[in-house]
Amino acid sequence: MNWVALILAVLSAGGIAYGVGQTRLAKSPVSIMKVFSQGRERLRLMLMRLEKEDEPDFCFGAMCYEPMALPERADYLCPVCGTRTVYTYSEAEFILSTLPSMRRIAAELDESGHFRVSLEELLCSECFGEDASNSVNLVVVYAEGDTVRTRAGYHDMMLLRGFVAGDLFYITDNDGQYPLKEHSQRIRELLGLE
Ligand SMILES: [Zn+2]
Repeated sequence: MNWVALILAVLSAGGIAYGVGQTRLAKSPVSIMKVFSQGRERLRLMLMRLEKEDEPDFCFGAMCYEPMALPERADYLCPVCGTRTVYTYSEAEFILSTLPSMRRIAAELDESGHFRVSLEELLCSECFGEDASNSVNLVVVYAEGDTVRTRAGYHDMMLLRGFVAGDLFYITDNDGQYPLKEHSQRIRELLGLE
């Protein structure tokens, strides 16, 4: 949904609330303010809230008892130049499982409307030569025009997913739920909110 549509939706929700009663009407100006303050400022406010609130309880995720066999190799296909780079064992695991999860979260974050988000993958032997490794830069571009580029891992992406959703916790792969508060400095760094 684009911002204009969202603003219209909020305004019309306010209109409906007007007919329904005083309590809901009182809430609608706050929602409208939320819609108008977006981008970096909005994120800064969200981070202040995160640092002020009490931590929610954590909850361990399900333990996985089924040992997963490590893949022996994985072919990384460069999205930029199309070259194939072969990785083995733990790096293959990164290509086959971690990277797709990171890309999925990056796409979700990109849809959030706060900023544009993409991953710069440093995995191609053609593009990065000797420096190619299983690492990824998170690239955040704000509407104001500035770009924040940080080396990021899967855990960082999970932190941002929770934070951008406005939660005080983040959810891990195995459905564990952990407080975001202790990671506020890392979130600040990843989003360039220093
Ligand atoms: Zn390449």
